[in-house]
Amino acid sequence: MAKTSVAVAAMKVALISNPGADFQIVEREISTPDAGQVRIKVQACGVCHSDALTKDGLWPGIQYPRIPGHEVVGIIDEVGDGVSEWTMAQRVGVGWHGGHDGTCIACRRGDFGNCRNLKIPGISYDGGYQQYMVAPVEALVAIPESLDDTEAAPLLCAGITTFNALRHSGASPGDLVAVQGIGGLGHLGIQFANKFGYKVAAIGRGPENAALAKQLGASVYIDSRATNAAEALQKLGGAQVILATAPSSKAMSELIDGLGPNGKLMVIGAAFDPIEVTPIQLISGSRTIQGWASGTPIDSEDTLRFAELTGVRPMIETYPLEKAAEAYARMLSGDAQFRVVLTM
Ligand SMILES: [Zn+2]
Ligand SMILES: [Zn+2]
Repeated sequence: MAKTSVAVAAMKVALISNPGADFQIVEREISTPDAGQVRIKVQACGVCHSDALTKDGLWPGIQYPRIPGHEVVGIIDEVGDGVSEWTMAQRVGVGWHGGHDGTCIACRRGDFGNCRNLKIPGISYDGGYQQYMVAPVEALVAIPESLDDTEAAPLLCAGITTFNALRHSGASPGDLVAVQGIGGLGHLGIQFANKFGYKVAAIGRGPENAALAKQLGASVYIDSRATNAAEALQKLGGAQVILATAPSSKAMSELIDGLGPNGKLMVIGAAFDPIEVTPIQLISGSRTIQGWASGTPIDSEDTLRFAELTGVRPMIETYPLEKAAEAYARMLSGDAQFRVVLTM
């Protein structure tokens, strides 16, 4: 499809010109949406650890220059041909699921999240680190009025990932669910787990986050530096689910013995090194290890509605788009409390 490039005006974008390069703030022409696309006037975009895939060229086949960002919230300011379900001035978001082909085997089974040709904003096409973004309609998420732009943005990746992993984990109300890691994902995971009616054990390294974890809804805090966390979970009867959010395979490996019968380690913290587990650890107690990746736009709408109903909110630090480099460095440092969000 050829882009009908009608110059409307210039906008600011934060782009990566080649793998490993620093962010550049440059001006670009605002482009026009093709058929089946809308243009979004971006209001906020979360900074996610997965933006490193774009920053450092870790995604196979990614092309440059590329504008990162897959936690986008804004307002539709132009609609392409054939778009009937979405309207001008509607507030929408775009998360990790940036489009699917509708024709591969997974899509034909209705499993759009596992589309073989899944598109990801900020990787497959330019994402939300810019003032205007074009997105296909199948990526759009309707944003409830009561949520602020900056609060809604992190729910489109960190939020949906924890919400969706937990609701598909098999845990029932009253079950012991542990959340490993109290960071960008974990601080949302604790809140969702509490609102789902689980008994929540938060697992952090060091005592610093104990009080906060309890405020967020944990009934137990386990300091994995001071105690053996797996043993602590067993003393509580064993966890039905451990939501592993911190990208540390070593920390995940150490927790497997904390699972109760039929317990499941739900892995969402993306690390590259192997999780160590023996077959015996899995066979005794019929334990499972499962990974979970985000979800579809309608899963995001479920996440936002649930957040609206229950008061689950991300804790955020905001930076203007011009300070994208600083915002990204802050996210990488691990010191942010807890999600970093760009405003336009
Ligand atoms: Zn993300
Ligand atoms: Zn597909």
